Amino acid sequence: MMGELSGGCVCGAVRYTLKEGFRFKPYACHCKDCQSRTGSAFSEHMFFAKQDLLIEGELDEGTYLQPSGAKSSIWGCKRCKGRIFAENSTRPGFGSLRCGTLDRSREVIPVAHLWVRSKQPWVQIPDGARQLDEQPESPEEWMKLVG
Ligand SMILES: [Zn+2]
Ligand SMILES: [Zn+2]
Repeated sequence: MMGELSGGCVCGAVRYTLKEGFRFKPYACHCKDCQSRTGSAFSEHMFFAKQDLLIEGELDEGTYLQPSGAKSSIWGCKRCKGRIFAENSTRPGFGSLRCGTLDRSREVIPVAHLWVRSKQPWVQIPDGARQLDEQPESPEEWMKLVG
């Protein structure tokens, strides 16, 4: 997805603009953590540089300490708890957008599906999308997959 993007939470109290800038391609994650956090089958992520995100409205933070020791924060609307983006302490300066909050979310087509080994059995991965049993290990592998 190119150009400036906009989106917001379900109640409308939070709106955002993601300026054209450093951005990876969207991917879907079928890991158990994403399922538990979203209450759904998978989540759609897109890495971006935090300096490109302009937020209007009040956010609050949910935190989760990953088994690795990394702190994962999810930022969402204070009023409706719609989740907007996540941050990880191992990747300062970058965030991971929850792509379903985009106004043009219909245009989001994940280029890769991660943690396919824990996907819900009824989910069919579209032809042509990359599939990984787990997730890339190194920054170089991430770059190759969604960069
Ligand atoms: Zn809201
Ligand atoms: Zn996940």
